[in-house]
This record gives sequence, C-alpha cells and structure tokens, in this order.
Amino acid sequence: MESNGKPSVAEMVVLATSSALTAVFYSIYRSRAKTATRLKEAKKVSIDQNLKAILSETPGRCVPYAVIEGLVRSVKDTLNSQFVDDCKGVIERLTLKEEKMVWNRTTHLWNSTEKVIHQRTNTVPFVLGSYDENISTAVRVVRPLDAAELDLETTYENFHPTSQSLFNFISQFISGEQPKGIHEMEEMLRVGDSVTGVGELVLDNDLIKLQPPKQGFCYFLTRQNYEFLLRKQVNAGRVWRILSFVFGLAACSTLLYILWKWYVHYRGSRKRRRDMEEFKEQQKRLMRELQIQESSVRATSCVVCLSRERSFVFLECGHVCACAPCYKALPEPKKCPICRVTIDRVVPLYNS
Ligand SMILES: [Zn+2]
Ligand SMILES: [Zn+2]
Repeated sequence: MESNGKPSVAEMVVLATSSALTAVFYSIYRSRAKTATRLKEAKKVSIDQNLKAILSETPGRCVPYAVIEGLVRSVKDTLNSQFVDDCKGVIERLTLKEEKMVWNRTTHLWNSTEKVIHQRTNTVPFVLGSYDENISTAVRVVRPLDAAELDLETTYENFHPTSQSLFNFISQFISGEQPKGIHEMEEMLRVGDSVTGVGELVLDNDLIKLQPPKQGFCYFLTRQNYEFLLRKQVNAGRVWRILSFVFGLAACSTLLYILWKWYVHYRGSRKRRRDMEEFKEQQKRLMRELQIQESSVRATSCVVCLSRERSFVFLECGHVCACAPCYKALPEPKKCPICRVTIDRVVPLYNS
C-alpha cells in the first residue's frame, strides 16, 4: 500500500505529453500572433495614379509588406468555367474527391472519409485594378498559388454516387470499405472579384508587382476584406493560446501532484525514523526500570515484555517484534510497537 514516492509510468507519460503539447501549441500561438501583428503593421496602399510615383521614390522601389485591395482583371486571356456559361476567371481549380465509408475496428462504427483523387489548377496572369474605372493603374499578382489564404469561389459542384449491386454490397461489408461516390468541384477566382492582397509590393521596370514577401511574412490573397482577414488571424491565434493554456495547466498540476506525492512519502519516512528512535529510548528506559542489562536481553525477545520469544510477523510493515500475550494486550486499533503502522493482519511464526 505504501508507495515509494516515485512517479508512476502513467504520471510521467501524462507529464511528458502535456508538456510537449504545451510547447507545440504555444509555438503555434506565437507564430500566429506574430503573423497577426505583422498584418496589423502592414502598410495600406491604395491603387491610384500616384502609386508608381510613390514606389519609385521609396528606397529599393519596394514596400516589404503592403496591403492592397482591388478588382481582379485579366491581363490577356481568361479562363472559362467548364460548367457555367459566361463565367470567366483567372484561377480555376478542378477537384475530384472520392467519398467512402470506412469501418473503424476500434469504435465499431462506419466513418465517412474523403480523399482527393485528382486536382488541377489553371492560372492566367492577372492584375488588381482600382474600383474607380478611370484609374488605369494596376498591380500584377505574382505566384498567386503561393498564397496562404487563397479562397476561391465554388462555381460548380456535383456528386456522382457509386452504383450498388448486391455482390458489391456483400464484398464491401467484408472488406470494411464502402465507396459512396465521387465529388466533383470547380472553384474559380473570377474576373471582377474584389480581392485583398498582402505581400511585397515592388516596382519592376514599369510594372507594379505584388509578390510573396521575404522570409517570415505571410502572403495572403483573399476575397475577404482586410478587417475580416485580420480578425480571422487574431482569432486563430486565440484558439492556440487557449489550447496551450489548458495543456500547460495539466502539465503543472501533474508536476504538483508528483511533488506532493514525493513530499508525503518523505514526511512518512521521516516520521517512521523518529518513531523508531523514540521506541529505542523507551526500551532503554524500560530496561533501566526493570534493572535488566542490555546484554542479557536476547535479540529474539519480545520488545514489549523483554522476556518471551517474538512470535508474530505484523503486516503490512513486516516487523517481527512481539510475543502473543503482548500482541493481544495492544490497545485497539492495534499498531506496531516499533513503527506505529496499523496492523492489518498477523502471521504466526513457528520456530522449529
Ligand atoms: Zn511480550
Ligand atoms: Zn512495524
């Protein structure tokens, strides 16, 4: 029953896992918070006639992290939707996903899963232009597919269910996989969409370009406005902060519990040591009172009466220290005369 004060394997696993998760979640939170701060500090630039002049006067003809908002315009060609008439865009993504039910052997439930079996993205060069039609200044968007937030508009969606025969049904039941069908999807960034771009703004010869920023900064291209994008980043950071706080709390409480357990064990063993010393003192006093020489007491004599042979093992402490009459005379609840631990049961000793 008495623990040795050391933490159990389970406690160590909980401590290690929660500490590791806290570190991971905290680092994600830090990077999200940094992204949000940088986004907040990014320079807001409006697309107007003066943009080229402003950039040419800026050192390096470049704004390292800029926010611009404008309308999507194609440079030369446009992409046509393969499913919707008169739907023109500059980015088109076709995705085929296989949907199936998979039998989970642990939970004994059918789980729905999705797997992308084909994806193709087409792009054509495009610019962001001013909302004012009279302003001809435009910003060329470079490498749009590198953007962290590239939300496209779903222009077409269809589900083709798998035809089922009885034979298929039975074989699927045995294999544990049931195909449901193919999900077909077309997404586009359409000409005329309002887009917020966050990245490095440079004047290259006569062309204004928005391109992926230098290391550590995030490239954004989204159909949402700047305020919405910023709020989304701040909220994402908050989730990770809460998670790191919860797991940090778990790690701290586990550590406190382990320390407390060790302290209880330490206190117990100190008390036992003290009791033992006290007991020896008592013995000496008793011997003096009864005028018995220490050398005349046998090593196997009962520690209470100092005369009869010891005849019991006390459990759980394991001390062999008393004779039968002295054991019976112990006051209830019976405690070991040496260590004062409650005696749960006794085993008689038979000396042969
Ligand atoms: Zn005795
Ligand atoms: Zn004992």
